[in-house]
This record gives sequence, C-alpha cells and structure tokens, in this order.
Amino acid sequence: MAHERGAPLRIEQVEVREPGPGEVRVRIEVCGICASDLHVWRSGEGISFPAVLGHEAAGRIESLGAGVTALSVGQPVVIAWTPHCGHCRACRSGRPHVCAGITTNAQDGSLSLNGEPLGRYMNVSGLSDHVVVGARAVIPVPEAVPLGAACLVGCGVSTGFGAAALTGAARWGESVAVFGCGGVGLSAIQGARVAGAARIVAVDPNRERLELAARLGATDRVCPEDGDPVAEIHALSDGGVDLAVEAVGSGAVARQAFDALAPGGRAIVAGLTGFAEEIRVPVVSLLLDKTLRGSIYGSSDPGRDFPKFFMLCSQGELEIEAIAGPDFPLENVNDAFDALASGQAVRPRVVFGS
Ligand SMILES: [Zn+2]
Ligand SMILES: [Zn+2]
Repeated sequence: MAHERGAPLRIEQVEVREPGPGEVRVRIEVCGICASDLHVWRSGEGISFPAVLGHEAAGRIESLGAGVTALSVGQPVVIAWTPHCGHCRACRSGRPHVCAGITTNAQDGSLSLNGEPLGRYMNVSGLSDHVVVGARAVIPVPEAVPLGAACLVGCGVSTGFGAAALTGAARWGESVAVFGCGGVGLSAIQGARVAGAARIVAVDPNRERLELAARLGATDRVCPEDGDPVAEIHALSDGGVDLAVEAVGSGAVARQAFDALAPGGRAIVAGLTGFAEEIRVPVVSLLLDKTLRGSIYGSSDPGRDFPKFFMLCSQGELEIEAIAGPDFPLENVNDAFDALASGQAVRPRVVFGS
C-alpha cells in the first residue's frame, strides 16, 4: 500500500468486501507494474493516499455478486481499468476506453483499512491479492494464455498495440516510428507489424531495448545518443513517417514524434506525462494535413479487443512474455518498482503466492 508520495510501499492486511450486485470478487495471481503506477506513486498526481496501486492484473473469479451470470467461479480473467459501465455517453457510443467511470482514484469502499476506504488506483488495485470489481470490467482469459501474459493485456499491451493499430490505424505498407521501447512502445511495434507496416523505426536510448524491438518487428533502430532522432527518421523514411507513436511520457518526445511525420502523417501520444507538461507545435505544420492525437487504452474496447489480443498471443503473433518480467513475490514489491524505475526491467510483475 502507498501511504505517501515516493515512500516505500507497505504490505498490510486490508478488508475486501464481498461482491455486490453486478460485481465479482477476483483472487489476483499476477500484476504487472506499469510506468503510470510509478508515476502516481512518485508524483501523487491524480491519487489520494493511502491507496493500493497496480492496474495490470489477472487472476481467477472467486465469487459472484447477484445478477452476474456470464462469468463463473474459478474462471481465469484479466481486469480492464475501464469500468465499461455500458450506460454513459462514451459507452453508449461504443467507446468504453473513455467511459465516464474511469478514475485514477476510486474510493468505493471495496478495499478498506481499519474501516477507512482505500484509494483504488484505476479502479483496479491489482497489488491486492483480492479485489472486487464490476463484472463488465472483467474479461475472460482462454486457458491457452498464461495469466502472466494476460495481465499485461490489462494495460501496457492494449495501450501500445492499440495506439498503433487502433488509434493510429496503422495500415499495410506504411512507415511507423515508435518513440520509447518500454512495455507500451514494444507493444506498439507489434501492433504496427501485425497491421502490416512496411517500415517500423524504434527509438530508444537503451541499445538492449532496441535489440528487443528488432526481435519484435522493428526494421530500423535509432538511438538518440547517436544524433537527432527526427533527422534520422526523415532520412530512413524518405521524408517522414506516416505514423509516429509517443510511448515515453514526455512532452518533448511528443514534439519529436510530431516532427518525424511526413505530410498527412498522424502522431499519437500514448505515454503518461506530468500533468503540467505542454506541447507546442507550429500551427502552419498542421496545414500539411498532420494530426496530433492522444490515445487512452489504445482506443481499445476490452470486450471486443482483449479476446483478439489473446488470440494473437496464442498464435505467436503477439509476444508478451518477451516484454514481461522479471517476477517478484509481493514482499519484494518495492524491488519491482525499483527495477522499472532504473530501466533494468521492461515490465516487472508481482506474482502472488510465489
Ligand atoms: Zn461508461
Ligand atoms: Zn498502465
């Protein structure tokens, strides 16, 4: 549990209530640590402490609330951080990735400490071994897909793959640049590959990450330490890319993504920046039919798209295990955060009961 900004997380006994109507209780088996967990823990932006972090979690259904008929006890599931309420304006128009119920700071009383409700980061709090969530936020996982891979579909994979393939609508034969080769960027590279992009340029200062990017589908690697990445991308792509994805969480890098575009290109910002960060672009450059667009959850609809991600995963088209790990037991959760912060791990996971 996070009690204050940047202070080591503590392991404590909390109360988890039984599921109410339309809810399920899930026993979490594994939870990935995402860069936004790290961001809110360090910055306190968008969260009230004490809170339980973690929003990339998979486990098994433990009990069902009244009226839940489409799920069964023991079923393996991943939790989506959109509550997918089904009745807000966004959900009614088929865009549950911007559901009005999404919050970084839920306090619904399902998790409490000494009778006080705890903050539930992204409606999930996957770093608790049990959680209660709405049944619509729970997506079944096929037995063929390990929960350790499935949990990353709960955030990083959807966010990155979707930023390239859904928000950015990467098309056959296009050129794509992906800035940042963490969990989101490496998923974006795979999204661009699956969509049929002809040239995929990976940009990252870490050369090991660039090697991994090449294994996952990048055709070219650009290390900013070797020179201006924007100039390099223009040289590689005959005057700019059709699609650029920012997966770092930096206003300056978002500007680089925009500058890397050819006329008519789309820049998609998928990384989480500090809340005060801004981006400025020359208005005249927009006249070249360029798009600068944000993306949340890769524009994915969990009910529709997560099964597709699982299918791609079981077919070997989407490699999740390559970007995951190492794994930590819960008592070493602070080491998992350190591994992400230092760049040693792309996507550390906390495995419960290990
Ligand atoms: Zn909704
Ligand atoms: Zn995340």
